[in-house]
Amino acid sequence: MNKAHIKKSDQVFVLTGKDRGKTGKVLKVLPVKNRAIVEGINFIQRHTRANPQKNIKGGILPKESSIHLSNLMVVCKRCNKHARIGFTRMPDGRKARVCKNCDELLDE
Ligand SMILES: [Zn+2]
Repeated sequence: MNKAHIKKSDQVFVLTGKDRGKTGKVLKVLPVKNRAIVEGINFIQRHTRANPQKNIKGGILPKESSIHLSNLMVVCKRCNKHARIGFTRMPDGRKARVCKNCDELLDE
């Protein structure tokens, strides 16, 4: 159900995990998995093996790992709070997200 609440480029607030309380920008949404990659959030230490043929250096490479959408809330650009999101129907029939806190439209 959370699927459509979060989109690429949204500012989101992290509810759980070691980055709880932080905000970041959504780099990518993985709808099938109900997960998103958020800039600077949920870094994992990825151990990579050197592969000179592919020009990959070995070692530990920090990388963002995906986080479940239910652990994220959209930050409203108007009231600047992580807010519950509702949906409204635009005059042209499209659905748009609204902040339930201040009623700001989050989509054009
Ligand atoms: Zn708001």
